[in-house]
Amino acid sequence: MLLRHTTKEIKPREALLINPAKTCQPIGAMYAALGIHACLPHSHGSQGCCAYHRSTLSRHYKEPILAGTSSFTEGSSVFGGQANLLEAINNIFTVYDPEIVAVHTTCLSETIGDDLPQIISKARDEGKIPKGKYIIHANTPSYVGSHVTGFANMCKSMVTYLAEKSGGKKEQVNIIPGFTEPADMREIKRLAGALGVKTVIFPDTSDVLDAPQTGKHVFYPAGGVTVSELRSTGDSIGTIALGMTASASAAKALDAKFKVPCEILNLPIGLRATDAFVDALRKMGSVAVPDVVTEERGRLLDIITDMHQYFYGKKVALFGDPDQMVSLAGFLTDLDMKVVYVLTGTADGKFAERIREITKETAPQAKVAANADLFTLHQWIKNEKVDLLLGNTYGKYIARDEDIPFIRFGFPILDRIGHSYFPSVGYYGGMLLLQKILNALMDRQDRDCPEHQFELVM
Ligand code: SF4
Repeated sequence: MLLRHTTKEIKPREALLINPAKTCQPIGAMYAALGIHACLPHSHGSQGCCAYHRSTLSRHYKEPILAGTSSFTEGSSVFGGQANLLEAINNIFTVYDPEIVAVHTTCLSETIGDDLPQIISKARDEGKIPKGKYIIHANTPSYVGSHVTGFANMCKSMVTYLAEKSGGKKEQVNIIPGFTEPADMREIKRLAGALGVKTVIFPDTSDVLDAPQTGKHVFYPAGGVTVSELRSTGDSIGTIALGMTASASAAKALDAKFKVPCEILNLPIGLRATDAFVDALRKMGSVAVPDVVTEERGRLLDIITDMHQYFYGKKVALFGDPDQMVSLAGFLTDLDMKVVYVLTGTADGKFAERIREITKETAPQAKVAANADLFTLHQWIKNEKVDLLLGNTYGKYIARDEDIPFIRFGFPILDRIGHSYFPSVGYYGGMLLLQKILNALMDRQDRDCPEHQFELVM
């Protein structure tokens, strides 16, 4: 196995990450941009970066990912990429006719110091941006941050470039769904619709990266938040930002720019976090929670109570993005599981404190790390084994080496399908997640138990 040389002995490391639990900023920016209707993401850097970002998204979503690149050569690497970007903007609007182009930078263009606002303004002055079309940009150097911060930066750019205030109020609530799957965004919309709250969800990759097969090629799929919806966000009653790391900066920018009040919540993964989301929607939209939603909640609660004995006391290791980890650790702790290891590759100063607050009763000795790598997680597991591992595809090596049940959760998932079609958020998503956890635990029990305990009925 690839990881068989991972040692049990943990030595302090300062200058080396091995298998970091994150990927690069522009991937998040590109994903967020795909959640705008008829948007062409554009990578301002070399072709190699863009190819890597597109292929990672394609492998995760099993869909073609459209994106332009400034195609830096040796010349642009030395003298800057202004000429390349100006030509790209002209070509993109002439040939591909998007409503909007969302440019993100890369390590190379950031190191050169290309001034994107200046280049975009020059493109406008030179008439390269047709009337009624838009360009936004986000700075996403990948020697800092992660795919999550890239996503957050592009969401903030949607606000800073596009949000407006007309003077009137719109009976709508903005929801920033965080770096979640298309199925999660669809589920968030469905829940808000069930409550009767009109929403603008941005970004929204449902019907973009989970679009149905119709037999016809459509360059820009039907989904995505429209530019006019984004422009209207300054008139909304309020904003609900789901996830501190991925969504808070855009919500705060909208509050600072147009005094649109915001509530920053955890991602609605699990019972408690979904309750908080539904409650916030109820208050902001001045609506009552309908029976259909209360009944859904009751079904999730029913599984939790019926199956509690199988969750109780099981030791779990989690790795992934900070917002997902906070909600997941909370959900599993509420099930009376022991969340003993939690690790994220994203640098987040408050991460350890937030997780420890969740696990302090059930797993006071929990190991928590931000800006960390899977080598560390593997070493922790080697020192004390867990009953279950949850994380993205890269966890499969640890799971195989240590013979641990493994549930794929987070980004990227490259070797399975389903994550983009079945939600993890909301009461329904919580039920699906519990089904996965129970199946993994039961399969392991059936595999390992002695014959006289091999039960037909659980
Ligand atoms: S880390 Fe930097 S150089 Fe590497 S693919 Fe990402 S943006 Fe490009």
